[in-house]
Amino acid sequence: MKGFEYLQNQLDDMKEEGTFRHLIPLESAQGARVTIKGKNVIQLSSNNYLGLTSHPRMKKAAEEAIADYGVGTGSVRTIAGTLKMHEDYEERLAEFKHTEAALVFQSGFTTNQGVLSSILTDQDVVISDELNHASIIDGIRLTKAGRRIYKHVDMASLEEALKETQNYRKRLVVTDGVFSMDGNIAPLPEIVELAEKYDALIMVDDAHASGVLGENGRGTVNHFGLDGRVHIQVGTLSKAIGVLGGYVASTQSLKDYLIHKGRPFLFSTSHPPAVTAACNASLDVLLEEPELIDKLWENTKFFKKGLQDLGFDIGISETPITPVMIGDDALTHKFSDQLFKEGVFAQGIAFPTVQKGKARVRTIVTAEHSKQDLQEALEAFERAGKQLNILK
Ligand code: PMP
Repeated sequence: MKGFEYLQNQLDDMKEEGTFRHLIPLESAQGARVTIKGKNVIQLSSNNYLGLTSHPRMKKAAEEAIADYGVGTGSVRTIAGTLKMHEDYEERLAEFKHTEAALVFQSGFTTNQGVLSSILTDQDVVISDELNHASIIDGIRLTKAGRRIYKHVDMASLEEALKETQNYRKRLVVTDGVFSMDGNIAPLPEIVELAEKYDALIMVDDAHASGVLGENGRGTVNHFGLDGRVHIQVGTLSKAIGVLGGYVASTQSLKDYLIHKGRPFLFSTSHPPAVTAACNASLDVLLEEPELIDKLWENTKFFKKGLQDLGFDIGISETPITPVMIGDDALTHKFSDQLFKEGVFAQGIAFPTVQKGKARVRTIVTAEHSKQDLQEALEAFERAGKQLNILK
């Protein structure tokens, strides 16, 4: 059919530049090892930090919910699509996060869009770290609020932005808790101190910290002992939690406000029973199986040290997200392809997701990996690194 030649031209340009991406389907369940193109490989690219995507307690909860409540809800939350289990889960989540209330959105992405677009007006300003996630950037684009971008984790730059914006009604400082491409943790104690000094609100996106940092995986705020001092915690239920969705943990008034004004919440159908039941069961897992988080960190330390001992540059990572810095886009993709031949699935990440010259193969170990998996992966990295002259 005619009409999309203008899009096809751009795709052809992307193919020429080498930036065109093919989706890579898994032929097995998500896990420490997966099947791709008929080959069993070690999975180092998922966000399934604790291996919960196939946790038996969560699968059982989901199966029972389908048997009792069906597969869908048939409505948005505000009309006929709120199940009692949605509310029960939100209550438990708030308790877990040590906040007054929690509200679940359809995804982490729509959570950021919904929160940012609804609570800020043209009388307000949002102050955002330059490396914040795309969903924060898009959420900011949806507001009429003023915008200031501060240099990545640079507190002098943040303070400058706070000083310059004292005439606004409200100021909101927003940061990722853990940055998704470099795996570094936001300097939250300093951010909180500055925000308190300048009377600004704070919002933290714990997509990569929920289930990973803090007591039982309560996140960055809890990790730094800052419970009660961060106004808005958002996060996803699709990474360490292993299911789907996003949440806001904050005050009852913010929750009530978002129920009335958060557009993705208002206008998109609520989560199916299986999703909510599995998320609810994940709280039991986090509280009763803390050894999963211990294993995640043990594996993280082992794998990071292994990469460094081989001579790889892992940047500024402090969490299970461990980039292997390569630099050149084409070499990064070649390295990822070679790793696949060696039995490891670790995706290359290049421009525009990261800056030009900062391409990397991003790895994420999980609690499900055995020492044997990680040892084999390190050997594959060594062989591929030597073959492409990344390692001497
Ligand atoms: N925030 C951050 C920091 C993320 O990394 C992601 C996931 N890519 C999201 C939000 C979006 O979460 P979800 O996948 O649940 O939409």
